[in-house]
Amino acid sequence: MTTSVQQILQNKGSAIHAVAPGSSVFTALELMARHDIGSVLVTEGARLIGIFTERDYARKVVLHGLNSKNATVGELMTQNILTVSPSHTIEDCMAIMTNNRFRHLPVVEKGEIAGIVTIGDVVKAVITDQSNTINQLHGYIAGDLQTGTPHGLLIS
Ligand code: AMP
Repeated sequence: MTTSVQQILQNKGSAIHAVAPGSSVFTALELMARHDIGSVLVTEGARLIGIFTERDYARKVVLHGLNSKNATVGELMTQNILTVSPSHTIEDCMAIMTNNRFRHLPVVEKGEIAGIVTIGDVVKAVITDQSNTINQLHGYIAGDLQTGTPHGLLIS
């Protein structure tokens, strides 16, 4: 069975880490380090207005010689954010992340932020799905070996 975004959030929780657009890049990096994560959402009240990731720091701050204590997240965040809803599947998330070359997908339900799915969550869910399928197939084959009846040849 395919894992849904909702199932992922049930396991990992719906906590998100967010900063205001006026926060410094340094503050965002501190938050990422404290929680061992690679991105922060940028919110205005409850509204999602952007995302800022470690890659943004590397490419838009370090390479441009900016100072992380002066630069604000609002100036450098990505504003056109792609999101998923809890009913999306893990395959949907994988396709969006691969096609767009990013590793974070905020989950939005009825206009409210419901959590975030990362590439790590996706890989973990795919491995779990595949190992469940393999176990089912093992059970199926083992059952056949016990009865000595290949399923494909079962005739009543
Ligand atoms: P990442 O691989 O997630 O560190 O992100 C690579 C680039 O894509 C950065 O510029 C991010 O701001 C941007 N990005 C990350 N996640 C999203 C998303 N869900 N929608 C749009 N852009 C994103």
